[in-house]
Amino acid sequence: METGLATRVPVEPIDVRRLGPILGPERVEELLETAAALRRLLDGRRVVNVNSTPYGGGVAEMLRTLVGYTLGAGLETIWLVIEGNPEFFTITKRVHNGLYGGPGDGGELGVAEHARFDGVAERNLERVRPLVRAGDVVIVHDPQPSGLIAPLVELGAVVIWRCHVGYDGSNEWTERAWGFVRGYVEPAHAFVFSREPFAPAWIDRAWLGVIPPSIDPFAPKNRDLRGAEVLALLRGAGLLAGDGAPGDPRVRHVANIVRDGTLLDPQTPLVVQVSRWDRMKDMTGVMHGFVEHVPAGGARLLLAGPETAGVEDDPEGAEVWHETLAAWERLPRADRARVQLVAIPMADPVENALVVNALQRHASVVVQKSLAEGFGLTVAEAMWKARPVVASAVGGIVDQVVHGETGLLVDPTDLAGLGAAITRVLDDAVEAERFGRNARRRVEQRFLGDRHLFDYARLITRLVTS
Ligand code: UDP
Repeated sequence: METGLATRVPVEPIDVRRLGPILGPERVEELLETAAALRRLLDGRRVVNVNSTPYGGGVAEMLRTLVGYTLGAGLETIWLVIEGNPEFFTITKRVHNGLYGGPGDGGELGVAEHARFDGVAERNLERVRPLVRAGDVVIVHDPQPSGLIAPLVELGAVVIWRCHVGYDGSNEWTERAWGFVRGYVEPAHAFVFSREPFAPAWIDRAWLGVIPPSIDPFAPKNRDLRGAEVLALLRGAGLLAGDGAPGDPRVRHVANIVRDGTLLDPQTPLVVQVSRWDRMKDMTGVMHGFVEHVPAGGARLLLAGPETAGVEDDPEGAEVWHETLAAWERLPRADRARVQLVAIPMADPVENALVVNALQRHASVVVQKSLAEGFGLTVAEAMWKARPVVASAVGGIVDQVVHGETGLLVDPTDLAGLGAAITRVLDDAVEAERFGRNARRRVEQRFLGDRHLFDYARLITRLVTS
């Protein structure tokens, strides 16, 4: 397959004033002033983002809105997506898993893998080079496009490498993955990690920015939905019984649902985890924690993720979907009836986002039992919707969930602990409501786009003026 045709993702500008009702006029004014100062400083130079997929996963999710707001604030910004082939993405997935402290598929990261990685970078560079001018600020996201960093620096661009993944400690797998990545990323002028402990010791601390991600309250994924709208969206996706009521016409693709038993009744309390089909998200662990440690009662577990053909840079998705399915099939019949697996179509990203939004809002408890997590946008998304969250005490999740205040943190290896936490939230509506209220406030204070854009503006200003 011919590869290397990096493409530009069209993004609609978003007026930052739209954040006014949530942030208040002062925060919006400050944002506009910061953008104006940066525009003067950049003086026609562009901000270029480069990653490896336009849809699926947290980075694409965030870029769509951040690039939109940056354009809306009058800064010249573009978003490029590199193209790879299955072999390339198998290698980058191995690196990605390694940076999370896991073995991934256990394959090599040696000379042959470097050669394949370099080849894809070289071919993408042909497309990227004419789009980047000396002085432009290029933000390269994650390891996949990192082969472009050195040539872009040579071209005279100011390059930031932003790493969205990470592991709280180090082990043989992180060491091996960093060994692969280091040579590609080290030429960058500055580095951004979601948390400080994710940055290896050789990253120059003087040029390390710690910037947690953010969510957009107005994106289809997060915007307010009325109760009736939530139910209609879920009916439209085929997830809820309707008693003849119509589904929301915006949902044109029915989800692929694996269930043993009747369609869910809207009154049934739902425990939901929404994630890519990735072993780090441990969907199977959530399933066992639920059926073995949450007393059988009214609640059902729904494990939802994207249709696996829809996420281009994630070759393991289909495998993990099948593993989860096989684990579900092995459950005793009575337990199987308590769990549903859902693959949400990715054909239309807005439709997908609306269904995820509705699912998160409809959930009585949102779970994110990742074994490792860079940040975990799904956690911020649920918290914004004032949902009580039960999540692993790993990576960026601990920056979001304050145990006992905005939700509950659990040890991801402790399935009984997970079950107990879910049961506690299901059984105590007053506490669940308090968690939700506090969670929304925490996201409002720390994880919305204005804070994110300020952090970027500070780093870019320092880079360009130094
Ligand atoms: N997501 C989605 N559809 C799905 C599953 C996930 O849109 O079927 C989104 C989810 O809402 C979140 C992102 O993908 O915005 C996942 O980001 P996160 O940081 O949680 O994990 P990552 O996938 O980046 O590891």
